[in-house]
Amino acid sequence: MEQHTCPICGRAFPVVPRRATFPFCSPRCKMVDLGNWLDGAYRIPAQDDELFSENTGDGRTDQDGHDSSGG
Ligand SMILES: [Zn+2]
Repeated sequence: MEQHTCPICGRAFPVVPRRATFPFCSPRCKMVDLGNWLDGAYRIPAQDDELFSENTGDGRTDQDGHDSSGG
């Protein structure tokens, strides 16, 4: 039986064709991975955008309803 190593917890588990949690060993590890990439995907790296920020005055309004609270 083929075995796969869980990328989250590193546990070796038998590969099941219809396993919904593949390539993770358990739904828990799948959720952990999902949370990891979600946390990184929606997090924009801090950069100096002032150089690219110009007031063109084209009447465009950038709505930024970003409200970070807690963590
Ligand atoms: Zn795992």
